Amino acid sequence: MGKLVLGCIADDFTGATDLANNLVRAGMRVVQAIGVPATPLDADVDAVVVALKSRTIAPAEAIAQSLDALRWLQAQGAQQIYFKYCSTFDSTAQGNIGPVTEALMEALQCDFTIATPAFPDNKRTVFKGYLFAGDVLLNESGMQNHPLTPMTDANLVRVLQAQCTRKVGLIDHAVVARGDAAITERIAQLRSEGISIAIVDAVSNDDLLRLGPALAKMPLVTAGSGVAIGLPANFGLAPSSQASALPAAGGLRAVVSGSCSLATNRQVLDFIQRGGAALAVDPLRIAAGVDVAAEALAWAAPLVGKQPVLVYSTAEAGAVKSVQGKLGVEEAGAMVERTIAAIARGLVDKGVRQLVVAGGETSGACVQALGIAQMQIGPQIDPGVPWCHARAEAAGPVDGAGVHIALKSGNFGGDDFFTKAFTVLA
Ligand code: ADP
Repeated sequence: MGKLVLGCIADDFTGATDLANNLVRAGMRVVQAIGVPATPLDADVDAVVVALKSRTIAPAEAIAQSLDALRWLQAQGAQQIYFKYCSTFDSTAQGNIGPVTEALMEALQCDFTIATPAFPDNKRTVFKGYLFAGDVLLNESGMQNHPLTPMTDANLVRVLQAQCTRKVGLIDHAVVARGDAAITERIAQLRSEGISIAIVDAVSNDDLLRLGPALAKMPLVTAGSGVAIGLPANFGLAPSSQASALPAAGGLRAVVSGSCSLATNRQVLDFIQRGGAALAVDPLRIAAGVDVAAEALAWAAPLVGKQPVLVYSTAEAGAVKSVQGKLGVEEAGAMVERTIAAIARGLVDKGVRQLVVAGGETSGACVQALGIAQMQIGPQIDPGVPWCHARAEAAGPVDGAGVHIALKSGNFGGDDFFTKAFTVLA
């Protein structure tokens, strides 16, 4: 087996896949583990991304889980640790970006690290320490109204300082633009001023690639998924098609969608307009006690042998609000997630081995229902969404050659995603 070089800890599930996707594109062979594995790594890879769900839990619990992941990664020989959070720096006043970063620094005896959510491919840029989402500052992007992690300040030095006891500083764009040596010099200067964590400006992939070499000796890097594009080269790895190679795909094809994001609504419509076989799931019928999953599976049975099928609860904002008004937001969400996950499992039982899942929370529910513990990351379908391969697990319904699965978070993917995905795999 080769040597594990990069060990990553991600604070949520689809965020972990996003990071893994960037590492693969930069030449690393990567597996994503769902939670901290109970057994040693048995895959020949350059990086492992441990996916936690620690973004909005209590800081002490997020620290405990992250340190658990760290210990496992260290036991597998990881040479560098990457703490991955959202490219919109999603956090509460308590954390968890700051507290987890400091706990990892402590455990790694690391006296300096960086923090930057910059991901220019997804229009997240940092300039003078201010985070932009698209053309506007973070606090004007809609993120100021996020139900769990409202981001009301775009100044990341301020935001992170409020979560940290160590001093937070800035490596600004004028330095990053001058490259590796200038960044290294600036780090030495910040250190001499007693600063231990630096927000780093980056407005382009070139900035991130210039940053990469300056991070080569840092035991800990904290970032969104963007910084990942500059790291594999530090380990002598270059982009190659081998990095994304997966076992050959076979079996039947299906899409399940519990995402109600705008992009997913367009993707469902596009699939139907192309003549695809699609069935809508009605949350009110689930609430009325109808076995909607059994109905959907009976509908799919005669079709799925001939063509990809789509089962969706995807609906537009007005319809979702109305359902939530009747059932409650959480109850509606949980009920639909359970149903979509049962349908995903039933489809796999019927021989589906190429499965697309749309929706972040929905993906979590489906992966759990399928008993998936680990996924090898393959080729990208659209930015942020790769095909993955999960092998058979004794505890789950996936048998034989395993299952190819693509987990798409809400607003990712072009309109033709549900069609394009199967083309990419073919
Ligand atoms: P996204 O990645 O687009 O945010 P998620 O799966 O994370 O998608 O979240 C969508 C949430 O909405 C899930 O909890 C899902 O169960 C719920 N949901 C899906 N369809 C409906 C619907 N028609 N009405 C109400 N809630 C829904």
